[in-house]
Order: sequence, then structure tokens, then C-alpha cells
Amino acid sequence: MAQRLIVIGGDAAGMSAASAAHRQLPRGQLEIVAFERGHYTSYSACGIPYFIGKDVAEASELIARTPQQFRDHHDIDARTGHEVQEIDLHRRAVLVRELPTGRERWEGFDQLMIATGATPARPPLPGIQAQGIYGVQTLDDGLRLTPFGGRP
Ligand SMILES: Cc1cc2nc3c(=O)[nH]c(=O)nc-3n(C[C@H](O)[C@H](O)[C@H](O)COP(=O)(O)OP(=O)(O)OC[C@H]3O[C@@H](n4cnc5c(N)ncnc54)[C@H](O)[C@@H]3O)c2cc1C
Repeated sequence: MAQRLIVIGGDAAGMSAASAAHRQLPRGQLEIVAFERGHYTSYSACGIPYFIGKDVAEASELIARTPQQFRDHHDIDARTGHEVQEIDLHRRAVLVRELPTGRERWEGFDQLMIATGATPARPPLPGIQAQGIYGVQTLDDGLRLTPFGGRP
């Protein structure tokens, strides 16, 4: 029976690990499901400042692979808008919230990859909470700084 790999976090580390796992095991031996709470997978976080500074015209240029491409070409079920809330190691399951609906369900795994990145430290400097001071970590954060907050 196929093993099930769950990946939490759909950017560089998570999707690289998912793709490597897919390449290494014969077809049918591993089911891979990746949960990403944002709207995008495999985006270049390093490119976000260039997008905000208009050196990169379209946010879509920062996306290496979409969930659809992962499904079609890599047999990886990448689900955006899905946030992992809890990990139960005894049951070998994660609690996943579908963000648009708020629905939650447990998803079982044999292997688990946690690739949720890091949270930047924001020092308690005077004015750091002021209007117009932003942190940028994900492509969604970068898009919120564009005039239309639009999606690619
Ligand atoms: C603005 C910016 C510029 C950068 N520039 C450079 C550079 O020039 N050179 C360089 O080497 N590096 C740069 N970096 C760093 C580089 O982008 C990161 O090292 C890299 O993105 C880390 O990849 P990651 O997959 O580990 O984490 P991340 O890219 O942070 O991805 C983690 C993903 O996990 C998701 N996630 C988190 N928690 C959950 C959860 N509970 N459920 C579901 N999904 C979850 C997040 O939404 C996120 O998409 C930059 C980063 C930023 C933000």
C-alpha cells in the first residue's frame, strides 16, 4: 500500500522536499499532499522586493510552479488556502483548516515534513506598530502592498 507524505508549507523547502520524494520513489508508492495556507506555492520570496519596487512587472513571474502544475506534472496534491492547526503524533494526523470555509478535518500521514519557514523578529522599536510599517514574508504580504492588492 502507498505511504502518505504530508508536507506543511508550500514554498521553497516544502515543495522541494515533495518534489524530491516524488522523484525518488516509484510511481504509486507514495501519495504526497502539501498544505499551504497562502494562495501560492513555490514562489520566490527573494523576488518580492523587486515586485514591490516594480522591477518585476507581474507577481506571476515569481511563481515557479502552481498547485495545478504540481498536480498535473508531479503527482503532488498541493492545496492552497489550507492551514495546519495541530499535529497529533500518536494518531499520526494533522488537523487542517480550509481557510475559505473554516471547515476542519484530520488528515493522516505516514511521513511528515514541516516546512513552515521562520517568523521574522520585529523588535519593539517606537513606532513599529504605526500605520505604513509592514512586514513582508510571503507573496500574499507583497501583494497586499500593491495598489490593488491583486492576485496574479
Ligand atoms: C522579502 C524576502 C527577501 C528575501 N531575499 C533573499 C535573498 O535575496 N537571498 C536569499 O538567499 N534568501 C532570501 N530570502 C529568504 C528565502 O526566501 C527563504 O530562506 C526561503 O523562502 C525559505 O523557504 P521556506 O520554504 O523554508 O520558508 P517560507 O518561504 O517562509 O515558506 C513557508 C511557507 O509555509 C506556509 N505556512 C506556514 N505555516 C503554515 C501552516 N501552519 N499551515 C500551512 N502553511 C503554512 C507559509 O504560508 C509559507 O508559504 C528572502 C525572504 C524574504 C521574505
